[in-house]
Order: sequence, then structure tokens, then C-alpha cells
Amino acid sequence: MKTRFKVTIYGIVQGVGFRPFIHKLVKNYHIYGWIRNSNRGVEMEIEGNKFDCLKLFAELKKNTPPLTLIEKIKIKELPPLGFSEFIIKESNSDHKHPLILMPPDISICQDCLRELKDPSNRRYRYPFINCTNCGPRFTIIKDMPYDRDNTTMQDFSMCRDCLEEYHNLVDRRYHAEANACPVCGPQIYLYKGEHKINVTNPILEAQNRLKKGQIGVIKGLGGFHLACDAQNREAVSRIKNIKKRDQKPFALMAESVVKIKKFCFVSALAERFLEGREKPIVLLKKKKAFNLSPDIAPGNAYLGFMLPYTPLHFLLLEKSDLVLVMTSANFSDEPIIIENEDAFQKLSKQVDFLLIHDRKIYNRCDDSVLKIAGNLPIFIRRSRGYAPFPILLPKKSKSVLALGPEEKNTVCITQDRYAFPSQHLGDLKKSESFQAYQEAIGRLMKVFQFEPEVIACDLHPDYLSTHYAQELSEQFKVPLIKVQHHHAHIASCMAENHIKGKVIGVALDGSGFGQDGSIWGGEFLIVSTKEFTRVGHLKYTALPGGEQAILQPWRMAFSYLYSFSGWEADSIYLILKERRLKKDIHLLQQMVDKNINSPLTSSCGRLFDAVASLIGLRDEVDFEGQAAMELEALCQPKYKENYKYQIIYENTGWVVDSGEMFNQIIFDLERKASLNRIATQFHNTITDIIFSQCVKIREKFHINYVVLSGGVFQNSFLLAQTIKRLKEENFKVMIHKKLPPNDACISLGQAIVADIRIRSVRDHS
Ligand code: ZN
Ligand code: ZN
Ligand code: FE
Repeated sequence: MKTRFKVTIYGIVQGVGFRPFIHKLVKNYHIYGWIRNSNRGVEMEIEGNKFDCLKLFAELKKNTPPLTLIEKIKIKELPPLGFSEFIIKESNSDHKHPLILMPPDISICQDCLRELKDPSNRRYRYPFINCTNCGPRFTIIKDMPYDRDNTTMQDFSMCRDCLEEYHNLVDRRYHAEANACPVCGPQIYLYKGEHKINVTNPILEAQNRLKKGQIGVIKGLGGFHLACDAQNREAVSRIKNIKKRDQKPFALMAESVVKIKKFCFVSALAERFLEGREKPIVLLKKKKAFNLSPDIAPGNAYLGFMLPYTPLHFLLLEKSDLVLVMTSANFSDEPIIIENEDAFQKLSKQVDFLLIHDRKIYNRCDDSVLKIAGNLPIFIRRSRGYAPFPILLPKKSKSVLALGPEEKNTVCITQDRYAFPSQHLGDLKKSESFQAYQEAIGRLMKVFQFEPEVIACDLHPDYLSTHYAQELSEQFKVPLIKVQHHHAHIASCMAENHIKGKVIGVALDGSGFGQDGSIWGGEFLIVSTKEFTRVGHLKYTALPGGEQAILQPWRMAFSYLYSFSGWEADSIYLILKERRLKKDIHLLQQMVDKNINSPLTSSCGRLFDAVASLIGLRDEVDFEGQAAMELEALCQPKYKENYKYQIIYENTGWVVDSGEMFNQIIFDLERKASLNRIATQFHNTITDIIFSQCVKIREKFHINYVVLSGGVFQNSFLLAQTIKRLKEENFKVMIHKKLPPNDACISLGQAIVADIRIRSVRDHS
């Protein structure tokens, strides 16, 4: 008896070789009918022996292609129509409320790599080789459904050979939307300034130039890189000069893990991430015998390495022994360059060559970054290779557009049971960045055909993202919900881990606008997704000069010593080893005394800064977190002690006073204790503070779940020992697994809180 089934498959099933997979499957079972991409995923009707159909459904759950994410399958039995063949139909795009999942970019697969190296293959050394299992996706998609005409590959029409593969069911490139070859696909060019250099092999020529110490601009997958030989000091310092106001460590690229191991320790887990299909930058501990330019990651214990992720990168590094600096081509907090014209205009005069191609980048996407703490991966930036892959939520959500914070921004949209955190959008203060931010939001909404029911944003009244949220909420005529920064941090981590109920939230970061108008950042909270109560925090101290104090940690050293430890300005001048002018210090004193531009803060990030400055690591930073990174680099597990501090119960909860710690550090400095000891003991103190606070909170509120979030937890030394200590005391500890603990996680938290708040408003009305 034949029967017919209508099957709707929801999830990431487009652009991942799903239809060919089904096509092969139906052949095994003598099943006929049709399949097509739809805005909801894939739909098909199949007809055949019922038993065969059921076997097919079982296979469907087991053996799908690697990039698919099947959320659910709906099956409806219908009377047979007498299909006699199986066909792939045109996409259907007239659904009213689509749920769309967009695939991220995938690094070159083993099959394509083999073809790339095979002289008899027609794509031998073709830098844009790809197939249904690999290649560009998110960065070239302009609209959904994922068909070639909706990508930047629409500029290239396939040649006969490519078309044949595209239509051939048994071919790896069957319906590979980015399919291309040297005859019909994108081409690569080498330029010097505005002039094209005629060479037969532009990539090999670029490699030779890099070996000679030249610096170049290289167009990648989600943006341009500035590249040079990482062992050539002069070349590295030239790149450093180009990016002068942006002194963040440079990312590196080497051909293989074996080569990376010459410079860094690579654990088995780190190796798995380096070689995984997402190919992130992995931060790895430097080895002592380290012969790369010292300008790459000064003062940092880690180097950020990645492996080649496109065929172009692969050819660039092939058989070269080169270790390349591959830092994103942008200027201090501006977005990464994606247009050829911009690269020419902004960089062609400063570099020796440009390696450019004519496949357009539509969605900007920076390299992802992660590090390993113990046996846990911690994302620092979740972008290329991951975004906008969704996070499955514990339950269905309203359609929320969450606009994120001001720095390390991502936005997030939620739909049904999915949250889609965007790619890294960076710091919004620069007008170029804010423009790119608005553009990215527009593009995401378009592709996801997204109509928000609620807009969410930060509580901070002056964030550009807050203003934009107000604008959008008026434009879409939907409510706006403001979410406190640290509540969003903890709610985000709860959503990722599917935690319900109340938790102890430990949110330690640089800054977030508090309910009392102060700058919070060392927060102990009791959090349910809907609301939170502050039950403890680091004691407030002045942030003399506001933003200035973030860039000048010595101001924080002053602030702590002056306010907590009771030192006079003149003594602080001596304690800081006369590194500042006396009048600077007296000026700070006046600012603090008269409360001039000195908002109060409980920031844990500033506490790290103050200690870093006090022990002479650095008095100024080029980016937030730099001093803390250098402090972490000094840590050695052999030092077990911690400094003294006090916890005092006040009307705002348990307040942590670290004044005594500063005096002990000064004493240690005087007796010439090693900086390693001081830095480690400081970390141990923070761990002890977290531990003591959690014990007190558990005693009073009977909550055993601890959720850790905030940029401070990027510190792997601190994170690993905090988790260990809490677990020893039988706490259940949750950390971010899919998103960074820094402000990149904020948008997800905002979305989740907004969803539950809007529901409860409706419930009560
Ligand atoms: Zn491939
Ligand atoms: Zn072709
Ligand atoms: Fe934060």
C-alpha cells in the first residue's frame, strides 16, 4: 500500500547539501515526490511504501550533513497522488511568518583541499574552490532563501562544467550556491598602489613579497587583513604604525598546528578548536623560546593563532614556513574594511601590495577569538564561522530585537525557540561604527524577514544603542524595554544554559549603568530572568575623570589608595614612585574631594587596573582590559595565599572593602616581593571575595546556583580557580559556553529579559 507524506523540516537545512542528501536517500527506498527550500526550512512530499517512508524518517534524524541543525520535523499523512519521479522544485518564498536559519561561513573542507592540490583537477590552485560542505555563506548572503541569486555570487554565471555539477545529484557541488571555477568564478589580482601587477600567480608573488618583509592588504572572507611576516620586526612595526591608535595584540596565521607548536603550547582541546570547521583565532600560551616580533602581543602571555580557513589563505601559506600577522584592516574601533574601494583609498599608499579579489563581501564578519581555561573554551569574540548560528532557547520567545551595549556590541534577535546573536559589531562610538551597526541590523532584519514585537536595550541613557532603540521602537510602534547591564549579563548566561528559577549572579566587568546612576561592575545579584536584586557589590570609589580613568589606571590606583586606604596625596605620590607629576596627583585629589567629574564605581575591571598601576605594570592603557591581561600573565599557581579584605553589611548588601589589600600590596612592594607573587595573590583575593560572597548569599537566600558573567571572567586563571573553589563547596556553577562573557553576551540577555517582561505586562492587563 502506497501512502504520501507531507514533511516540513525546520532548522538549518539550506545551503548545507540537505536536498541532495534527501535525493540520495529516496533512491534507496523507491520513494517519489518532490522537495524544495522554503522560508521555514525545507518541505517535501514523498510517496511510497509506508514502511520505506518510516525508515527514511529514521535516517533523516541520524545521518544528516554536518552543518544541518534540525529543530523539528512535522509529518502529515495524505492520500497518494501517484508520483513517478523525485524532483527538486523551485524555492517557495511566500510564507507569512517564516523562521529562517542562516548558515555561517565554513572553512575549506578536506575534499576541496585535496582537489586544490591536485594538478589534474580543473580547480587546481583555484583560490575560490568550495562545495556544499564548505565555503562562504553568511558573508555573501543578501537575502533568503539561500539561492545563488540572493548572494554576491550572482555576479558570476556558472560555466557549463560548473552548471553540470550544480545539477548533478551525485556531485558534491549539487546545488552548491557559491560554486565556481577558474573559468567562470571570482579572480584574484595583485596591486601596488592603484596599479595592477601582471603576474601569472598573484598569490605566490604575494607570498614571496611577504617573505622579503613587505606588508600587504589581503582580502579575506568577512573583511580585509593587514599581513606581514611575524618574524620580521620592521614589517610588524610598520603595521603597528598603520594601526597606531589600536594597540591590541595582532592575530597570527600559520600553515599547521605543528608550526604553531614552535611558538606556543597547544593542548588537545586547543588543537580541536584550531582545526575545527569554524577556524577561530585561539589564544595560546607563549613558549619561552619565542622568536617572533615583540610588538605582536607585548606584555601578554598569549598569542592568538589561527589556521588558514579559505583556499586563498591556504595557498598563501603553503610550503612557506611563514608565520603571518593577520590583523583586521581597520583603524581604532572603526569597522573592518570590506569594500575594495575602501582598501585602495585608505591603505594602498601605506602598504607594499594589495591582494584583492572580485567576490563581494556583503556581511562584514571579523575573525572569532577564543581561549582555553583549564578544559573549557571561553569565547572572546564570537563572529566568523559561528554567527549567526542560533542558540536554542529553553522556550519559545516573542520576536525581540535587542540592541546590545556600547562596546563589543552584538545585537540579537529572537524568534520562536531561537536566539540569533549577530556577528561582532564592535564599539559604537565612532560614527563609522555606528553606521555599520545600523546597516548590520537592517540586513539581519531583512534576511530574517524580522518584524519585532519588542525592542530591548541597555538602561544607560546616553548609549547610542539606547537612542537608536528609542527610534526603532517608535518606527515599529512596539514597546521598548530597558534592561540593566549586569542583569542582562546573568540572564544571558542563564538562557544559554537553560536555567530557570533564581540564581546567584556574579557579574564582574568594566562598567554598566546601575539603577542608582553609579557605574556598576563588581556585582553580586539574585537573578531570575524577569528581575534581579542587588545583594552585594564592591565598595564604591571615585572614577576621577570618568572615561579618562579607564585609559589611565594610575588614576584608579590613586582613587583606591586615597579613598580606601587613607593615604594622603603626597604619600601616594611617593607610593607611585613619582611616576606622575605632583600637581597631577593634587588635581585628582581635588576632583575627588569636590566631586568634579568623578562618578562612583564598583567596577571590578577598575580594581584590576588600580593594582596593575600600583605594582608598576602600566599607568596607561591603549584598550580596556590591557592592564588586567598583563596582570594575569604574571600569575603562578604555586602562590596560594590571598590578601585581606573586609565585607561589611550595608543597606545595599554585602559591600567588599579592599583597602587592607592595597596596604598589604604596598608592604609587599617595599619588601621587594616578586610581582608574580603579588599578582597571583591579588587574583586569589578576588576568588576568595567571590567565594565568601556566594557563601553568605546562599546562607541567607538558600540558592545554590552560581552564574558567572562579565569581561573579568575572560581571565582564565581567575575563572578556573573560582569554578574549582565554588564546586568544592558544592555550588552549581554556570558559565557562558556559546557566547563570550564580555559585553558581546549582553544582547541575548536583553532579549530574554524583554521577552519575559512583555509577557507579564500582558498577563496583568
Ligand atoms: Zn568543500
Ligand atoms: Zn565554472
Ligand atoms: Fe559588561
